[in-house]
Amino acid sequence: MRFGVSRVLDAIEARLTLDPALARGVLDLAEVVRLVDLDGDAGKPASLLRLGHVLDSLAQHLAEDGVAVYVVVDRALLSDLDLTSNERMVVRRWADDGLVEVLAESADRVLEVAELLGIPVISRRMFPEYADHYQWLPRGLLSPGVGGLATVGEGTPGPPTSPVLTRMWRCPEPACAGFARPTGGQPPPRLRSAAPTCPRHEARLADFGPRPPARVLAVRVDGAVRGRFVVREAAPVVVGRAPADAGSPGAVVTLGPLLREEAMRWISRSHLRLELRGDALVAIDTSTNGTAVRSPDGSRPLTAGHAFGLGNDDVIELYQGVELGRPNRFHGGTAQPSSVMADAPTIAMKLPH
Ligand SMILES: [Zn+2]
Repeated sequence: MRFGVSRVLDAIEARLTLDPALARGVLDLAEVVRLVDLDGDAGKPASLLRLGHVLDSLAQHLAEDGVAVYVVVDRALLSDLDLTSNERMVVRRWADDGLVEVLAESADRVLEVAELLGIPVISRRMFPEYADHYQWLPRGLLSPGVGGLATVGEGTPGPPTSPVLTRMWRCPEPACAGFARPTGGQPPPRLRSAAPTCPRHEARLADFGPRPPARVLAVRVDGAVRGRFVVREAAPVVVGRAPADAGSPGAVVTLGPLLREEAMRWISRSHLRLELRGDALVAIDTSTNGTAVRSPDGSRPLTAGHAFGLGNDDVIELYQGVELGRPNRFHGGTAQPSSVMADAPTIAMKLPH
C-alpha cells in the first residue's frame, strides 16, 4: 500500500513546476486535498492523491500528456493533521526542492500567478472578494469535479504582460528555494504595492538582471503530445532513448519509456542536443542513425555534429512518428492522456512484494 502511494506521489511530483514557461494551470493545494468527492473517500478529510485526480483532469482538458501545474501551498497545510505524516513530509520536501510554493495566505497568490503567467486557476472557489482586483474573474477558472474540469468562464486571464517576468530576482534569504540562485525558470515574484517580493520570505527581491530567453518544445510520439520541455541559454537539453545526465549542465529528455520497439532500436541513447544561442534554437545531431528536420518547404537530414538553426515551424524527426517541435505545431492532441494515478494503491497492490 505504502509502495503504491509513493509511486503515485512520484508521478505527481514529476508534474510540479514553478517555471513560468511550463506551468499550464495554478492551484491551491490546501483546497484540492479536501475535495472529498473526487475519490469518494469520504473517510479521509484530506488526501494528497486528490492532486493526482486534478492533474489527470487537466491533462484530459488540454488533451495533452505530462501537463505540469504550478502548486501554491498554504503554510498551515504543512502541519495539517488531516494529512498523513508521510504526506506532510512529501509536501515539505516539494517546498524545499522548489517544486511548490509555500506562503502564509494562498488564495490571492493563486490569482496573482494566474494573471502574471496567463494561465487558468483550478479551483471550486469563485473568489468574489477578489473580483474588483482581478477583472478577468470568473473567466479563467476551471472547476474540478468527478467528471473532469468544468469551464466556469470562457478563456484565460489573458496573455502575460507584466515586466517583472522579463527580469531575474534574488531573495536575501540564502536558503530560498525560489529566488536564492537566480535561474531562468524562476517563479514570478509576489507584488506587494508593486514591489517584487519573495512569496515565502516576504522579503524585497533584488533585481538580478534580464531573464534569459526560453524556448518551449513539445514531444509528440505517434500523433500524441507526451510532454513539454524548455531550452534556455546556458541550459542545453539532450534528447534520446536514455541520455546520461551526469556532468551535463542542462537537462535530459528520456524518450525510452514512450517508444515502440523499432523506434527504440533506431533512436540513440543521446540522439540530439538542443541549444539556445541568443534567440536562435539550434539542433546538433549526435545520433548513430540520423535525424531529419521537416520544414514547410520539405524535409532534410541533419549533418552529424553540425549545428542547425531551427525555424519556428520546423519539426525535428528522430524516427518516424517521434517528433519535437513548438507546441502550436502539434494540433489534435491526445484523447487518452496517461494517468498519474495509474499506480494508485488498488493497482499497485498487485505488484509482487
Ligand atoms: Zn525567499
